[in-house]
Amino acid sequence: MFEPPHDRRAPRLFDALPAMRDAIPWRPLCHVPTPVERITALPFARDHGRVWAKRDDRISPVYGGNKVRRFEFLFADFEARGARRIVTAGGAASTQVTATARFGEALGIPVTAVLFDQPATHFLHEALLSNAAAGAELIDGGGYARTVWRTWRALARDPQSALLMPGASGPRANLGYLDAMLELDAQVRDGAMPRPDVIVVPAGSSGTLAALSLGAAWLGWSTEIVGVRITALAACNRVSVGLVQRATQRLLARFDRHATLLRPRFTLFHKAIGPGYGAPTPEAIAGIEQVRTLTGLPGEVTYSGKALAALRALCEDPARRSQTLLFWHTLSSVRPAPSADARDRVPVALRRWFDAPLVA
Ligand SMILES: *Cc1c(COP(=O)(O)O)cnc(C)c1O
Repeated sequence: MFEPPHDRRAPRLFDALPAMRDAIPWRPLCHVPTPVERITALPFARDHGRVWAKRDDRISPVYGGNKVRRFEFLFADFEARGARRIVTAGGAASTQVTATARFGEALGIPVTAVLFDQPATHFLHEALLSNAAAGAELIDGGGYARTVWRTWRALARDPQSALLMPGASGPRANLGYLDAMLELDAQVRDGAMPRPDVIVVPAGSSGTLAALSLGAAWLGWSTEIVGVRITALAACNRVSVGLVQRATQRLLARFDRHATLLRPRFTLFHKAIGPGYGAPTPEAIAGIEQVRTLTGLPGEVTYSGKALAALRALCEDPARRSQTLLFWHTLSSVRPAPSADARDRVPVALRRWFDAPLVA
């Protein structure tokens, strides 16, 4: 079954703040450090000359991407609370749902996921098949309101079910990306790459953005953290990111009182989202192949396509010619091809996705 990473004793955070070790449940899931590599295969990055990637796409053989660092804290917390089932919700192509389904299967905890509608894509098909193959119970949520209602109903079936919030974000979960900044700091000290002037990362629930910028402030770095907004402005804006950040900062300050003084800074990039969450802008569609060039597996339009569109815009900005840019790659490149019978395991109500016209 699940092979935990042998050499992962504890997050760097616990070495930095030993009191955390006894107060915060944690279990090893990540194969870290993830590599940092110079990007030379994408023409706009090669022309710029100082563009790097942080390969969180390869963080685990179970499933990669940016949910896994958070799961080290979330799954440990569920276990500590005696949860018997995880209930979650997300878009029909949500990577959070796929990550939950795959780690639920690997760790032996059943998963129920309520899926809301989003634009139909190849990636959505792949996600549905993967979630079904992982044995997750999949429920058609339809619109947002019905998804909330059905999630609540799924939770109410068993008092020992635990809710994994859409986006898998929250102060405890975000410790994963605070820890990731300590990892990057060690890589910079070891000479693996220069200290970046800019880090580019997609922002949905903005847990990653909030934690990376808090981490940069904690390290005393002046690095600008650019969050590429991929969800509606109502869900991702200066106020909402600030709230996520301060909640994470308060948790950190329980273990390091100086952390209350930090003033983390971040920038939001609003020009990549186009008409909305999951909407296929031409630049995001171009990103599908760019991700294949980077990792060997195609990308998708919701997260990585838009993040790469923003990276390109920054590379082409004359004011950023001499800056070192780090693209934090958050999309899993571990996505085994689904088995032939996976389609039969998708509930009938959700098979309508296989007939829907694809936008990308
Ligand atoms: C979930 C996800 C994001 C969004 O991260 P947040 O921390 O929720 O902002 C970005 N990219 C990918 C590939 C994701 O799966």
